[in-house]
Amino acid sequence: MMTRRHLLQASLAAALSAVVAACSRKVTPRATSTNTPTPTTTATGTAVPTCIVKPALTEGPYFVDEKLNRSDIREDRQGALLRLAFNVSRLDASGCVALQGAQVDVWHCDAAGVYSDVAQNDSVGKKFLRGYQLTDANGHSEFITIFPGWYMGRAIHIHFKIRTFAGGTKTYEFTSQLFFDDGTIDAILAKDPYKMRGAPDIRNANDGIYNQSGGALTLPLAAEGSGYAGSFDIGLQIR
Ligand SMILES: [Zn+2]
Repeated sequence: MMTRRHLLQASLAAALSAVVAACSRKVTPRATSTNTPTPTTTATGTAVPTCIVKPALTEGPYFVDEKLNRSDIREDRQGALLRLAFNVSRLDASGCVALQGAQVDVWHCDAAGVYSDVAQNDSVGKKFLRGYQLTDANGHSEFITIFPGWYMGRAIHIHFKIRTFAGGTKTYEFTSQLFFDDGTIDAILAKDPYKMRGAPDIRNANDGIYNQSGGALTLPLAAEGSGYAGSFDIGLQIR
């Protein structure tokens, strides 16, 4: 016989599983076609962001925690304008919700393949192409930057890290990298200031780190004004 408490638990579980089912349809790590933001509606009519779990990838040697809260990270760097947006949601047993207040850090090399503030790039003390933004109530954060160039041994990529903090203490960290399709890369690198360096020596297909991503971190870009725009949706499994 079910007690009233059990009934409550059972109905709650049923309600939760409905939410999870609605959410899990979109949890398709390998389907790059789901990268287009398609906000869905829950049974209660509340819009939730797309909730797609993506693979973590190595931080690499060039992260510097500069604590630069800025949207425009270009400084003096020249290149194809890129508006880069992140839509961050939290995926747990009760469903997916927009994650507000998460710190999204971005860092990448310039058109010549140089990172700022890195000794081996002779750029110590420089801060270009680094910065963070906090996600808003919709889990959204946005950067103005340039399309990265390439350096030996890696496909073209942008590093990102998403952290949450509680009272100055880090409570969660997710680190990965974004990639771009060869057609986009070739179109951009055919122009100044990229073209003098020619094509990258490594393409996605030959990049060991890209190959760990299963293609789930390739960001489609659309033409926007004189440059490009891309919007990356990610669901974080925060316990
Ligand atoms: Zn890198």
